[in-house]
Amino acid sequence: MTKEKYILDNLRKTLCYKCGTSLERAEIVPISSEASIAWVAHAVCPKCKAESMVTITPTGNGIVPVQSDLKGTEFKKFVGIKSVSYDEVLDLHLALKKERIWNLLQKKEKNLAKPRKA
Ligand SMILES: [Zn+2]
Repeated sequence: MTKEKYILDNLRKTLCYKCGTSLERAEIVPISSEASIAWVAHAVCPKCKAESMVTITPTGNGIVPVQSDLKGTEFKKFVGIKSVSYDEVLDLHLALKKERIWNLLQKKEKNLAKPRKA
C-alpha cells in the first residue's frame, strides 16, 4: 500500500466531528512535511464546512476540531508543534528501528501503478 492510498483509506474512515460525513472528499491542506512520521492535515468538511485537524499515523488516526480564523495554509506555521503525543513518537521510534514504516506498509500493496501526488 502506498502512503497516499493509506492516507486516503484513513481519510475515508475519518468522520467529521460535527456531522459525521466521511472526510474522503474534504478540502485537505497537508501540513506535515514529507519526512515526518505522522501525516497531519487541515480538513474542511465537504458537507458542513466544519474545520478540523486530521492526524494519520501508522498506528492510528485522530481528528481534532478547529475553531479559528486561520486558513488551512496558515497552519503550516505550526508544523512540528505537538502534532503527535510524546508517547506516540516514542512508540513509532521503536517501530522504525526495525524498519521504515512506510516501506513496511508499501510491502502490503502489490500494484503500485498509481503515481504519487502530494
Ligand atoms: Zn461536517
